[in-house]
This record gives sequence, C-alpha cells and structure tokens, in this order.
Amino acid sequence: MIISIASGKGGTGKTLVATSLALSLPDGKPVQLLDCDVEEPNAHILLKLPLSYKQTVFIPIPQIDETKCTYCGKCAEVCAYNAIAVIKGKVLTFPELCHGCGACSYLCPEGAISEVNKEIGVLESGQLKGIEFIHGKLNIGELAAPRVIREVKRHINQEKLVIIDSSPGTSCPVVEAVKNSDFCLLVTEPTPFGLNDLALAVDMVAKLGIPCGVIINRDGAGYSKVEEYCRKQGIPILLRIPLDIKIAQLYSRGVTLVEGMPQWREAFLDLFDRVKQVVNGKFQ
Ligand code: SF4
Ligand code: SF4
Repeated sequence: MIISIASGKGGTGKTLVATSLALSLPDGKPVQLLDCDVEEPNAHILLKLPLSYKQTVFIPIPQIDETKCTYCGKCAEVCAYNAIAVIKGKVLTFPELCHGCGACSYLCPEGAISEVNKEIGVLESGQLKGIEFIHGKLNIGELAAPRVIREVKRHINQEKLVIIDSSPGTSCPVVEAVKNSDFCLLVTEPTPFGLNDLALAVDMVAKLGIPCGVIINRDGAGYSKVEEYCRKQGIPILLRIPLDIKIAQLYSRGVTLVEGMPQWREAFLDLFDRVKQVVNGKFQ
C-alpha cells in the first residue's frame, strides 16, 4: 500500500506526520519512507538518520551537431519548456530549462541531436528501526524536480508499506510524488489560507482519482470552516493535532512527535487503520 502525504500549503506539518506515522507502525512491519520533497528534503534530519548510499541523478539534454542541422525549427516547436530556440542559423539550448523529455532528439528530421547526461541531483538512502528511507535532492537552480522524484519512486517496494512525503503546493512535483498512491493524507491548518490551499489539494487528488482524508494540525485556533468544508465534501478528518507549545518546541528541536510524546503513537496507529479500511474498501 502506498500512502502519500501532501498539503496545499507549506509549513503545515507534513513531515511531522510522515515521520511519526513511519515510526508508529508495529515492530516488524516493513516500511519504506520516501521523502519526495526534493527541493527541501528534511525528514532525515528529524529522524537523525545516517545516509549511507548516494546515487547521482542525471537527465539527458540535447547536443546539436550543426553540421547536420538545417535550422528547420522543429526541435524548438516541440519543446514544451522553451529549452531550445532556433534563430538566424543558430540553435540555442538552455540546459537549465530542459526536462530531458527527449522529444527534440526523437523528432529532429536530420538526426542532428544527440543526448548528453547532465547531473541534476542525488538520491540518498539509509535504514533506521526497520524503516527503509530514500530521499531525492535537486541541485540548486535546477527545475526538473519530477525527474528526481521519479528516480526515488523507482525504488518503491510494493511488499512494504510505502509512505511518501511530497513537497507543498499542487504543482508538477507534487502530482509526480502523489500519483499512483492508494491514499493521500492532506495536512492542513485551521486558517483561511489553510482552507484555500486544502481545497486546491483536494481538487488535485480528485483529478488523480486518489481517495483522501484530512489531518488538521494546530487544531483549536478557533476557525471552523475547514471542518465545514470537509463535511460538505464528504472528506473524513482522520487526525487532529492540537495547537500545543510542547509539540512546536519538539519540532523546533528536531524531535519527531512520537519520540517526544510517545502517547501519540496510538493515534498514528489508529490513523493507519482507518486509511487501511478505506483502501481495502476501495479494492473489495
Ligand atoms: S530539428 Fe534538428 S535539424 Fe531542425 S533545427 Fe532542430 S536540430 Fe536542426
Ligand atoms: S529534451 Fe525535451 S525539454 Fe529538453 S530541450 Fe529537448 S524537447 Fe526541450
């Protein structure tokens, strides 16, 4: 089973949920935790997890052989990312915009485009208390986050429970991280911004056909419209984490919720059971 964790908005506590869920599962249950927030992976910091394996992630970028090129402009036409331009008898490439999709080299009628590898990030992994951990790290200034996320997800082991932490928002990297999961936990906070971004995240998972449930973090701030919205949409609220100075202090000290307050383990186990029920119901 693959459970992804997303939120329309940054700073809502996705990583707090991902790490505590992974640490709460019964001993002996094989778990994979994939941190796909590749622009700012930080789950390993909370887990204090030593990273032992490193692999470079590349994308193939075009290299033009101008002796074969007729400057027909087809490569620029097909590039959806404006990473290639043909002007006045010259082909210009912009490697920082290239997503390595291969369309230009595939469609060049003269075979004038070959591909060379460009490093865009790394994948690192480690083990902790029965958790197999993998994360991707996009190099600063690079845009092809989905490519690094795909590389992390290539290591998914369906024999294990897979927990995927995504980046905040609803853009391409989040879609790439969340897609093909069996359930998505949407972490939000009870504020107007939280509600606005939750609604965007709900739309995203609906388009991907993924069932979802909501976790309200910093609950108790007195704003009830998130609950109203969930009720109207028929989305279950699966966990509430209160606005509590002790929880904030733990997080700021880099301590996971279930390690700092072990009484929360039961709540996360219960959360897992409820997700399992939905997923099993879906496949019955
Ligand atoms: S498609 Fe090929 S031949 Fe046409 S401009 Fe691009 S590199 Fe040159
Ligand atoms: S590989 Fe794809 S993204 Fe890169 S320049 Fe070619 S068409 Fe554009």
